[in-house]
Amino acid sequence: IPGSLQRTTVKQYGSELLARSHMVFELQSALDGDARHGALMVHYQPQVNYAQGTLIGLEALVRWQHPQRGMVFPNSFIPLAESTDKIYQLDLLVLAQVCRDMRGWLDAGLPVVPVSLNFSRRSLLHPQVIADLTRVLACHGIPGHMLEFEVTESQLLETVELVAPRVAEFRALGARIAVDDFGTGYSNLDAISSFPFDRLKVDRQFVNGVAESEKVAGLFHLIQGIGELFKAELLCEGLEEEADLAWLAQRGAVCVQGWYFSAARTPDAIVGILKALRDRAPDAPPLTVQQL
Ligand code: C2E
Ligand code: MG
Ligand code: MG
Ligand code: MG
Repeated sequence: IPGSLQRTTVKQYGSELLARSHMVFELQSALDGDARHGALMVHYQPQVNYAQGTLIGLEALVRWQHPQRGMVFPNSFIPLAESTDKIYQLDLLVLAQVCRDMRGWLDAGLPVVPVSLNFSRRSLLHPQVIADLTRVLACHGIPGHMLEFEVTESQLLETVELVAPRVAEFRALGARIAVDDFGTGYSNLDAISSFPFDRLKVDRQFVNGVAESEKVAGLFHLIQGIGELFKAELLCEGLEEEADLAWLAQRGAVCVQGWYFSAARTPDAIVGILKALRDRAPDAPPLTVQQL
């Protein structure tokens, strides 16, 4: 390697390391509530049953409101949190915020729907998680069946012998378990069949363009078959196009989530949606899902 190139590489690598460690420091400060490094907040994306025109759930998605960088999305800090052991604190912070929001909605007499949270494998397997979950639920008076925990297929199926008993403990509290990003994790069907789960979230790569691509459609059919085999409800993620929605609905896949209906919204915006649902006259025409 020519000397100048080598120096550049070392210099770049060094500054990347520095940027990374600075971000870890800032993330830890934000997690500890130091507002100088911004705040972690939860937005919610509606999940709908298209056939019934109903809101069936909300997915909690964390955002980092950063003083210099603006809104930072999870893909740029969740992997960092996972690799530096901060993910449990983050997932618990989101859990507490979700329960606080739900308590507020319930106290305001709003028609609250179940909320899905994303949990990393490390959080699912954390030795304190059942005790902490029980405590947070009790503290806000939220029944376990109002929560669902999403774990990605790849994280769930790694060492299934550790995961399966923990999944059973979550379900004993009434919570539901969803396999997230399904279809992307090189499914080991035998491993999947070794623990009970409630929902398969079809990854958006098998949803987007399903109406146009025979290959995507074929893969979607396979996934739908797996859902039927395991008697799990299917929820299609990342729905953007009306044509894909029509295609899915024709095949009975009516539970969907995606920008076609709504991106993730602030808690205030969610209050607006829940109020609109509450205030509908009993004889009003059914809501179209676009109004949700
Ligand atoms: P995910 O759980 O698969 O969440 C879906 C992601 O797709 C979200 O990105 C959502 O905003 C985005 N999305 C929704 N509808 C559409 C659509 O129609 N088209 C496209 N292209 N994208 C759509 P987001 O919010 O950036 O989150 C990314 C990932 O970060 C999540 O993927 C989840 O794995 C992880 N994550 C988010 N919040 C948390 C958390 O509190 N804890 C943990 N451990 N992970 C989290
Ligand atoms: Mg998810
Ligand atoms: Mg997903
Ligand atoms: Mg994902």
